[in-house]
Amino acid sequence: MTDCLFCKIVEGEMDADVVHRDDDVVGFRDINPQAPHHVLFVPTKHIATLNELEADSAALIGKLTMAAKQYAERNGIAEDGWRVVMNCNEGAGQSVFHIHLHLLGGRRMNWPPG
Ligand code: 5GP
Ligand code: ZN
Repeated sequence: MTDCLFCKIVEGEMDADVVHRDDDVVGFRDINPQAPHHVLFVPTKHIATLNELEADSAALIGKLTMAAKQYAERNGIAEDGWRVVMNCNEGAGQSVFHIHLHLLGGRRMNWPPG
């Protein structure tokens, strides 16, 4: 997807503070962090929203989660606790239309989210 911001980060055409990279997943720090640790994990494959997720790509969600779990362990936030968020479509707060899993950690989280 030529006009997709996160595809550009995946392809290295746009700078990001990358913390994880494998064949299926790239993780990078959010430009506008909402917590001391705020990392976005994206599939290297372009999928616009969770509404477009197909059964043959569903395993990617597990891969995003595993990458987040490994980040939490490596960065010492696993025990204290961390949160994952995936916003689907504008009404839920999605602003970049390439699916991404937010990892938030390093501070106390409130519930319910806004
Ligand atoms: P959404 O609102 O779609 O769930 O999350 C999109 C996230 O992408 C936001 O938290 C926003 O701060 C982040 N973001 C937007 N543009 C950029 C960018 O150019 N670089 C990085 N690293 N994050 C971005
Ligand atoms: Zn994309």
